[in-house]
Amino acid sequence: MSLLPVSRIIANGALKLGGSTILWYKAQTCPAYRRNGKPCYDNDSGSNWIDCQVCGGTGLAYTKKPRAIKGIYTDNSNEFLPDGNGGFLTGKKTLSLPWDLDISLMKHRGYYSDGQMAPREVLKDKFVILSPEGKVAEVVYLEKDPVKPTINSGTIYQHVEVSNNS
Ligand SMILES: [Zn+2]
Repeated sequence: MSLLPVSRIIANGALKLGGSTILWYKAQTCPAYRRNGKPCYDNDSGSNWIDCQVCGGTGLAYTKKPRAIKGIYTDNSNEFLPDGNGGFLTGKKTLSLPWDLDISLMKHRGYYSDGQMAPREVLKDKFVILSPEGKVAEVVYLEKDPVKPTINSGTIYQHVEVSNNS
């Protein structure tokens, strides 16, 4: 019998007890509809409704209501790297979150008029980290697709790299 399911239950329980409450605003294509009944963001053409009041014409929006999740925020951004010129600060900010949350960086594509696929503006998932008193402690944005735990890695959380840049 694999101990992994048991480990996950324990890990999620530990997060519930010891983690911060985080409000997760998932990035999505705009859910509004145009006057002609078509969606603001047209998946087929990759085009968005320029006059949309919900998203301001970008075709992208956050979920209206955030989902409250539990996680651990680690700020290692003050790591000092000497470079001979006085050095600079480097390092990462990460969230450790339950393994089963469906988090991924938005991959937004549109098409040029010649039919070529073009990378387009993306909206990054937003995480509002709350203090134990329920106040906003920090707001961070998803930087990369999460590192998902594998069965053999021994990790039971997913680690998500974040930054303060929207
Ligand atoms: Zn819209």
